Amino acid sequence: MPMNNDSAHSRPGYVRLHETGELQERIDDALRALRQCTLCPRECGVDRTQGETGFCGVGRRAHVASFGPHFGEEDILVGSGGSGAIFFSGCNLGCVFCQNEDISRVPDAGPEADPDGLAGAMLDLQRCGCANINLVTPSHVVPHILEALPVAVEHGLYLPIVYNCGGYDSVDTLAMLEGVVDIYMPDAKVWDSYIAAELLRASDYPERARAAIREMYRQTGDLVIEQGLAAKGLLVRHLVLPEGRAGSEHWGKWLFELSPDTWVNVMGQYHPCAQAMLFDGMDRLLTRKELCEAFTAMQRSGLRRFDGENRLFRLCSVPY
Ligand code: SF4
Repeated sequence: MPMNNDSAHSRPGYVRLHETGELQERIDDALRALRQCTLCPRECGVDRTQGETGFCGVGRRAHVASFGPHFGEEDILVGSGGSGAIFFSGCNLGCVFCQNEDISRVPDAGPEADPDGLAGAMLDLQRCGCANINLVTPSHVVPHILEALPVAVEHGLYLPIVYNCGGYDSVDTLAMLEGVVDIYMPDAKVWDSYIAAELLRASDYPERARAAIREMYRQTGDLVIEQGLAAKGLLVRHLVLPEGRAGSEHWGKWLFELSPDTWVNVMGQYHPCAQAMLFDGMDRLLTRKELCEAFTAMQRSGLRRFDGENRLFRLCSVPY
């Protein structure tokens, strides 16, 4: 029986879009893009509705590697019930240092999820008390996600939706998500196109990611936090790479120009995974000096909202 939570929670945009019929139009658009796949900047052109696959390896149906409350995300996403993470298999990037390669490189990891199954996962996470629905690596399965929403809405889904992606997203596909996604959480991975070609297998990553992040910001604006939890807006993750490969200073300046109030998580947990050992300089842990230099550069750019700011200040306030 459908739940009625409108009194306790503001009605999410995807509920309104479902009621006006616009959500169905978005689904139709997304399925058209799937027929000659242009969902992401790779534009493989394969007919995924017929089971053909491109770079990401996923065809007509998404596979969900796992789902459940996740307590390892940013505090503002976790709350007391965890972030309701749904890990999609396959990926449209080919990061040589991927920490999830058992999922990202195995497009059929986990069971196939039809709209009912995916909606069921979302509703289970809501019943568990999660703070949001956190779609992890969603860029190649946007139609699949949209198709699940009417079912989920009919059964009472009301949680905010987090789009937790690598940043390699098409602006046209993101337009299909306007009013659906509440919180965009893209990576800002590397700034330089040569490094992007080598480490991400996507030389156009920097320009594509900038266009995508700009569109995400246009849709949702600066991150809004209500009662300690992210409610709406943009949260950018920046994993600092050894020897300045991520281009932290450039990203800092660009994000500041986007908005001085961009919320940035400067992350220092780089460790060599996947094929990273084969690449010069990527075969070791990040040093504290490298992390702090990146954080300092971001601060100098004028940015003023950092995730875990006090911890970073303490870490970087002693000489290195
Ligand atoms: S979503 Fe997959 S098949 Fe479609 S363009 Fe991107 S990588 Fe290619």
